[in-house]
Amino acid sequence: MLIDHHIHALAHGEYSYQYEWLRLFIEKTRQQHLNGIGFTEHDEFRHLINISLLHQLQEENPGIEIKIGLEVDYIPGRENEINIIKAEHDWDYLIGSVHFIEGWAFDHPDHKDRFNNNNIDEIYFNYFALVRQAVEANCFDIVGHLDLVKLWGHTPREKSLLHYALPVLEAIKDADMAVEINTSGLRKPVRQMYPALEILQKMKAMDIPIIFGSDAHHPDQVGLDFDQAALLAQRAGYKELVYFSHRKATKIPIDF
Ligand SMILES: [Zn+2]
Ligand SMILES: [Zn+2]
Repeated sequence: MLIDHHIHALAHGEYSYQYEWLRLFIEKTRQQHLNGIGFTEHDEFRHLINISLLHQLQEENPGIEIKIGLEVDYIPGRENEINIIKAEHDWDYLIGSVHFIEGWAFDHPDHKDRFNNNNIDEIYFNYFALVRQAVEANCFDIVGHLDLVKLWGHTPREKSLLHYALPVLEAIKDADMAVEINTSGLRKPVRQMYPALEILQKMKAMDIPIIFGSDAHHPDQVGLDFDQAALLAQRAGYKELVYFSHRKATKIPIDF
């Protein structure tokens, strides 16, 4: 049972929930020999999700698990709003992601210059502190692209990546959450999946469950580089994934 848990059919609002468009995602799921796909729009676009269309596709494609999730922006102070979003629908899972450090859209190409004018270790510290807060907010099932802060290729100098990530991993373990192996980092200047191998190895030692996600913003990207995700998971010692239905995780062996 291999599911691509991280899909944006709307991209950043460029596309819409049209039957033929969504069918392309399902077709690609089949072509990639995946068992399922989870639609996880950014929460700001959730009013554009056509749930009944997804239900129709579920009925028409009994061989493909079609999950309905959401990728939610974690910003401190948003907890009440996030709890309201959670109650709006019977989501299969919520991915919690940090895309902003104190209002700075650090993953946006227009704003990446700030990495050059600031202390990288401080940025790493601030980023992971926010991810930890997201985990401790107790709103989410999965941590999205755990070490996204590396996307432009900047690495910390004073301390290791693991030094900054470890408190987050401890919080994830306490919160009983899963982490995604997100292959979209291979398509970014860092050319690495999220999270890095050393983080995954530590996660495995702590028995933190994983899922796979492509972060596709187009049907062509469904299941992209999942062979590499499987290799990375195996290198870290993982033999199992989980998948989510109605916010409950089920373990399954990695079968490649
Ligand atoms: Zn994201
Ligand atoms: Zn995403």
